[in-house]
Amino acid sequence: MCIACRNRESQHTLIRLQLDGKRAVAYRGEGRSFYLCRDCSLDAKRIRKLIKRFKFNEEEFFTLIKELSTDG
Ligand SMILES: [Zn+2]
Repeated sequence: MCIACRNRESQHTLIRLQLDGKRAVAYRGEGRSFYLCRDCSLDAKRIRKLIKRFKFNEEEFFTLIKELSTDG
């Protein structure tokens, strides 16, 4: 399930992330993960909401999402 819009999509179209302390990082294969769907990964407003909710570093989070969403 996408953490931003709560839509269920196949895992194929979801970006998988995990929390590392207070930062979001690409999923490393262990630990608690969460998903962001492709639509949300392309929607700056939704991403900003997440940043506020989790108090992420804005620039860092946008960079991460961009990297992961262009990856295939
Ligand atoms: Zn979504």
